[in-house]
Amino acid sequence: MSVPPGLVIAIDGPSGSGKSSTSRGVADRLGLRYLDTGAMYRAMTWWMLRAGVDPTDPLAVAARVGDPLIESGTDPLGPTIAVDGFDVALDIRSDEVTRAVSPVSAVPEVRARLVGLQRAIIEATKGGIVVEGRDIGSVVAPDAPVKVYLTADPSARALRRAAEEGGSDVAATEESLLARDRIDSGRATSPLVMAEGAVHVDTTPYTLDEVIDLVVGLVGESVP
Ligand code: C5P
Repeated sequence: MSVPPGLVIAIDGPSGSGKSSTSRGVADRLGLRYLDTGAMYRAMTWWMLRAGVDPTDPLAVAARVGDPLIESGTDPLGPTIAVDGFDVALDIRSDEVTRAVSPVSAVPEVRARLVGLQRAIIEATKGGIVVEGRDIGSVVAPDAPVKVYLTADPSARALRRAAEEGGSDVAATEESLLARDRIDSGRATSPLVMAEGAVHVDTTPYTLDEVIDLVVGLVGESVP
């Protein structure tokens, strides 16, 4: 399928809904770039923790928000994330960062800075891009011609996440992702919501390949 230049595909949903694997698969299939905005929020959080900033103190976080240099590589087969020139791809997946990322992401100044960076990357990517997150279809790229909202049953999400993390405790993983959902959905600035015009896909009964097929099919229907 040939896609129009500059096509933006917005994929939102809670953690463990299959967003990352689906987004990368769709980007690879269609020859597009891929942006993981969650990795950017995690990178900001990692930097705050390293700088000794209390992640639950919004004023302290806001005061330092402009300091880290955050760089995202957009190859769907090998996305990268660096802070001040250091590769942080592994560090941003630590429990410490996972626990602190939702309060940091709720700070309006953090969102303003990262949304600005995300829009600049989208703008600069002439060949088209799949962007995944929580507020892509609603805030970052509301004009995206293709918007998908992925969900899955909490137990299915926890099983997938625990497997990705190399067999962590499934019950604890489910508790941690439900806690993040509550903060992400309840925050005042850009809460996790299904964007206007988004297609809701419940991925629980499907394999990854089936979900990728489904989204690629939606792209085929949505673009001329
Ligand atoms: O996608 P991932 O689970 O890595 O995202 C980590 C956290 O980053 C989310 O729980 C959420 O708090 C935040 N996030 C966000 N907006 C986005 C992407 C992620 O607030 N667009």
